Amino acid sequence: MIDTVMQRLGVTESQYRQGDFIVTTPTDGSEIGRIKLEGADAVDARIARAEQAFKQWSQVPAPRRGELVRLFGEQLRRHKQDLGALVTLECGKILQEGLGEVQEMIDICDLAVGQSRQLFGLTIASERPGHHMRESWHPLGPIGLITAFNFPVAPWAWNSALALVCGNSLLWKPSEKTPLCALACQALLERAIEEFGDEAPQDLSQVILGDHEAGERLVDDPRVPLISATGSTRMGREVAPRVATRFGRSILELGGNNAMILAPSADLDMAVRAILFSAAGTAGQRCTSLRRLIVHESIRDEVVERLKKAYANIRIGDPMEGYLVGPLIDGQAYEQMQSALERASKQGGSVFGGERQLADAYPNGYYVSPAIVEVKEQDDLVRHETFAPILYVMSYSDFEDALAMNNDVPQGLSSCVFTTDVREAETFVSDQGSDCGIANINIGPSGAEIGGAFGGEKETGGGRESGSDVWKSYMRRQTNTVNYSRELPLAQGIKFD
Ligand code: NAD
Repeated sequence: MIDTVMQRLGVTESQYRQGDFIVTTPTDGSEIGRIKLEGADAVDARIARAEQAFKQWSQVPAPRRGELVRLFGEQLRRHKQDLGALVTLECGKILQEGLGEVQEMIDICDLAVGQSRQLFGLTIASERPGHHMRESWHPLGPIGLITAFNFPVAPWAWNSALALVCGNSLLWKPSEKTPLCALACQALLERAIEEFGDEAPQDLSQVILGDHEAGERLVDDPRVPLISATGSTRMGREVAPRVATRFGRSILELGGNNAMILAPSADLDMAVRAILFSAAGTAGQRCTSLRRLIVHESIRDEVVERLKKAYANIRIGDPMEGYLVGPLIDGQAYEQMQSALERASKQGGSVFGGERQLADAYPNGYYVSPAIVEVKEQDDLVRHETFAPILYVMSYSDFEDALAMNNDVPQGLSSCVFTTDVREAETFVSDQGSDCGIANINIGPSGAEIGGAFGGEKETGGGRESGSDVWKSYMRRQTNTVNYSRELPLAQGIKFD
């Protein structure tokens, strides 16, 4: 299957069948490719080529740049099924979610095409007669993109669709766990570039297949003015200071530890469905997965009982075959999940689920039943992001305490409240409420739309991607003062005669 899909997506066998680095599918642990990892010198050479490409591309009018992204969106529409299947095969999320990821790519292309005609700045009143001021936005340079395994294509597209219309070239270092998805995206973009014609330079977009050392070379290079890095907080802790040392800019999209406050007035049918999708879906491997349920003490027993029933009915299996939950990415993720569950038990937590599934059928595939862990308090274990389907359940009596628990973790990505009490709902999204980048009412914490700015606070890194005014991150701002008078008045009324 892999060969058919790769061929249709335009990736040649030599690109993914030659090399020492073995790529496996989490579905059953079998090999699906072999690639060559690039060293630091190759990264250097790519950066030099990206600089040249930038010089040419930044001169193409922005709406024309938008036309390239429109063509890329068309390629994605045409190949949605194949790319979605590849996402599923390489990172293990179910096909519906693989397709959903590709849909997000299409959506951001549409947004970026419109944005290509709206890269506008402000005009500002000058304090001096015969003067005006304005803000201009200029292309930035080669943009370095580092991405995580669990969203192998969409975050690249959120960044690159906007970065391209803003006049920049691209250097993408994907996760070493999902390089085939990157090769496929690159092949589709190259098809769009071919259709677009000569105005698009060679090496406008490049993929760096490498490990964290290749990433570090990209991160350290002053020719790359912006690093947009998606991954763990551990990675962000390494990347952020290195970029800052050379006064580069970064967009950091790091770990989350997302909560739902479930109030007694909530519509429980809706809430249970939302919990199921956001806690168990994607096998708990979304940055926005629900990890903490803060439920009012009066409904705790009922909610936990309903959840256990729902969890017991979750169909777990091959992500291509219509199941609801696929495998974890690898054995290491499984070990980390088991060790968190053991620790929770030792600390007095009550664990439901979490066992390995289908081990006979897939000895090298790590399928688990999603776990519910009732804990007494929010301790260090709960505050830590274990990237697996574990839902910690805690209860509250006062809404203010629930809010404090929502915020009392190092991460600040996503959050939500289920309530029909308007005071609770509005407080949650007020400055006194959730401290997260995303705060939702009566909808789960995962599955954001691309129209809004996506990202989080605190150890989630503070970056924003996707919609709203995020395009500005991929441009440099310039303030212009223009004197159209015959005088030279100084600002602040200074006399210098
Ligand atoms: P990871 O941090 O292990 O790797 C992410 C990427 O960073 C990979 O491409 C890796 O090669 C690279 N990398 C690692 N160390 C580096 C370094 N020192 N310098 C440069 N590059 C380096 O993350 P993962 O396991 O692939 O993904 C899961 C994590 O990502 C979770 O914590 C999840 O919450 C987070 N995530 C966050 C978002 C978000 O938008 N906030 C989205 C997806 C995933």
